[in-house]
Amino acid sequence: MPTVISRPNLLGMDNAALAAMVAEWGGKPFRARQLQRWVHQRGVGTFDDMTDLARDFRNTLNERCLVAAPPVSTEHVSADGTRKWLFDVGMGNAIETVFIPEDDRGTLCISSQAGCTVACPFCSTGYQGFNRNLNTAEIIGQLWHARRELQRDIASARLPGGEPATAERVVSNVVMMGMGEPLLNYDQVLAALRLMLDDNAYGLSRRRVTVSTSGVVPMMDRLARDCPVALAVSLHAPNDGLRDRLVPLNRKHPLRELLDACNRYLEHAPRDFITFEYIMLDGVNDADEHARQLIDIARQVRCKFNLIPFNPFPQSGLKRSPQHRVRLFAQILMDAGVVTTVRKTRGDDIAAACGQLAGDVRDRTRIEQRLPNRAAIDDRAGTDTTQELG
Ligand code: SAH
Ligand code: SF4
Repeated sequence: MPTVISRPNLLGMDNAALAAMVAEWGGKPFRARQLQRWVHQRGVGTFDDMTDLARDFRNTLNERCLVAAPPVSTEHVSADGTRKWLFDVGMGNAIETVFIPEDDRGTLCISSQAGCTVACPFCSTGYQGFNRNLNTAEIIGQLWHARRELQRDIASARLPGGEPATAERVVSNVVMMGMGEPLLNYDQVLAALRLMLDDNAYGLSRRRVTVSTSGVVPMMDRLARDCPVALAVSLHAPNDGLRDRLVPLNRKHPLRELLDACNRYLEHAPRDFITFEYIMLDGVNDADEHARQLIDIARQVRCKFNLIPFNPFPQSGLKRSPQHRVRLFAQILMDAGVVTTVRKTRGDDIAAACGQLAGDVRDRTRIEQRLPNRAAIDDRAGTDTTQELG
């Protein structure tokens, strides 16, 4: 067993790392590209199936490397076609990945950490505490596995669709909106993003890969320089008082700092905009006054708003804003010229909707002790008050 673990997993290696490894064995750089195409583009995990590689090279690969996504514990398919995989990442931890098919695209929502340290009180991942960062192979392994499964389904016609579909077109977009805060696992996430964009790997365009962050300001600056993919920022509150409670990271990086970082990010992605995610919590952040405060924010950053109906989970004690409230809230923003969409809830029958991804996390952070304010938010939710929690 230990020999297997110590072999390098090709899923976590970018072209430079592969080229260095191949060169060490006396191979030419093009071998690395060839290998990368087999593994990522064609989704082949068995070296003996890589038919245009020389037998000696295949033998060396068999002896020294492996291609392995984390093992799947369970898979669920929702009535609306959403699919969820639970991957076992060892030591009692499991992470979740969700595929959301739509008419014009297929979006894969992937996880970056087992748990999360940010501990937002409306998020079931946040409730679980944190165990560890995922490595690049575990992050890319989610995409690799999902594409293979979806491709198999197309081949066996389990998926609808007239024109010939390919795995590339089935997973057309990737969003880092699963479990974890991607920018608190920066190096591993960056390497995974680069593989997603690499033409020899997944070849996704920059705008079809989205990182969602609760606002890790210094890492937003690094991402802007290293790999300026589409950026979604989990805003959830229009002022510091409320955001300190809903997104505890705000106490470290308050709104002013966050908005400035958004503008710096856009300097590296000149034709882009920031997507502000805003979860609609009944009686907490959904009053007209909150919408008016958001208009002020929207005037400072090139952005659009995505209002997210809160998906409840047992421990949160919070409630989803009623539909008419969400509509009125959206209308206030749109009347002020702010582009606003309301996210459709998908896959909630299999607990695959945003914020319901719980996986299994062996918490190492003693979260209950870290969050004495959680009860305060729970008490206020569900009443008619629209006052801020501040
Ligand atoms: N940590 C990152 C990315 C993962 S969370 C972040 O916070 O941005 C991805 C999105 O799911 C965030 O916008 C988050 O606010 C949203 N989310 C979390 N819990 C939710 C819930 N219970 N219902 C609906 N959306 C939720
Ligand atoms: Fe972490 Fe994002 Fe959940 Fe907040 S919403 S606890 S940052 S995963």
